[in-house]
Amino acid sequence: MRPVDLIRRKRDSGELSREEIEKFIAAYTAGDIPDYQMSAWLMAVVLRGMTRPEIAALTEAMLHSGSVLDFSYLAGHKVDKHSTGGVGDKTSLVIAPIAAAGGLKVPMISGRGLGHSGGTLDKLESIPGFNVNLSLTDFRRVLETCGCALIGQTAEIAPADKKIYALRDVTGTVESPALICASIMSKKLAEGIDALVLDVKTGSGAFMKAEADAVSLAELMVETGGRMGKRVVALITDMDQPLGRTVGNALEVAECIEVLRGAGPPDLRALCVELSGWMFCLGRRTATVEEGRRLAAELIAGGRGLEKFREVIRLQGGDPGVIDDLRRLPRAQHQVDLVSRRQGWIADIACEQVGVAGIVLGGGRARKEDAVDPAVGILLRKKVGEMVAAGESWCTVYYNSAARLPEAQALLEKACSITPDAPAAPRPLVRQIVGSKG
Ligand code: URA
Repeated sequence: MRPVDLIRRKRDSGELSREEIEKFIAAYTAGDIPDYQMSAWLMAVVLRGMTRPEIAALTEAMLHSGSVLDFSYLAGHKVDKHSTGGVGDKTSLVIAPIAAAGGLKVPMISGRGLGHSGGTLDKLESIPGFNVNLSLTDFRRVLETCGCALIGQTAEIAPADKKIYALRDVTGTVESPALICASIMSKKLAEGIDALVLDVKTGSGAFMKAEADAVSLAELMVETGGRMGKRVVALITDMDQPLGRTVGNALEVAECIEVLRGAGPPDLRALCVELSGWMFCLGRRTATVEEGRRLAAELIAGGRGLEKFREVIRLQGGDPGVIDDLRRLPRAQHQVDLVSRRQGWIADIACEQVGVAGIVLGGGRARKEDAVDPAVGILLRKKVGEMVAAGESWCTVYYNSAARLPEAQALLEKACSITPDAPAAPRPLVRQIVGSKG
């Protein structure tokens, strides 16, 4: 197999065989194919797409690039949740502790920032000391001790996704249903779970902007999980504006702690309860999703979700003091308010541009070797449908580098539309459910 032949064939809309895909992925994982050839192939996939058999072969090749875990010896259903990625999309940090506090086992393997979207691992690493690179032995120990553990892809688990994911982030090769399906499902199927709740985002801040595209991605992933014997459901949810009010790693951790304290923004709280409700139902912990939602709400109200988050932070080497004192999280040196020139209603916040502004501030990567700045980010004081007065701040930017500020500021100014009339009511947070039978 010559990599250049597979690149050219995909470039010309040809189909690759299962064997070719397996060899290509195995060789790249082993370091025998350079990043530049993989990048070219990924771009060809973005532009030309893959057939259903190719997607199945890619997902399975990436899954079997490492170990497939088996937690059948552990009591309780093993259930996870994964999002296709959005802006301010931080639900995993709330949901994993809630689900574990409710008796499920959550062996969560997540990713870093991808394209304009944030990543669970970068958010967790903003907690001083938190280790997302646990060995397999420590991953098992944390899961057995507290019911959830949150790590990244490793050299042992989903190593192909670890390498390909980092490359896609910086080569404009994220927006492909085939690559998203293979990336998400290879990690999730390696976790040894019984059931999976997918949060498939749609809207201006999602990778699938059109709802119909989000639905077909959801169907692809639900079908992939079903073929592997997993119970999978996908919720198609809104990403037309950032979720919650914060974008940026430490700011988002603080907002998650607020939700676990029983406060926080209503949209974030509602989505966390909804997704947890589905996890409890799919994990046979409750008979219905409604009962699952009630259980999630009780676990928040009683503080058990918050205590579980404290426990997992401690077990993964982080500073559990952040739970009681948010000032222990990294804080940017400077902040500036963006103010409205006139009175009006926030009609639209171009979501992808807000995500890009966060990356420009240093919250994401321009090259795969880059470190992220955990402290920078954006606080949306106003969201769509809210009123702003002339001279009032609609957004605060937290930054450390004055050189980075103007570009981020310009993106944000352009992202916000203010109109004299009240906009139509926002669309529902959950648009559709895919695969809820069985
Ligand atoms: N999340 C992933 O893990 N991979 C993707 O490609 C998109 C979102």
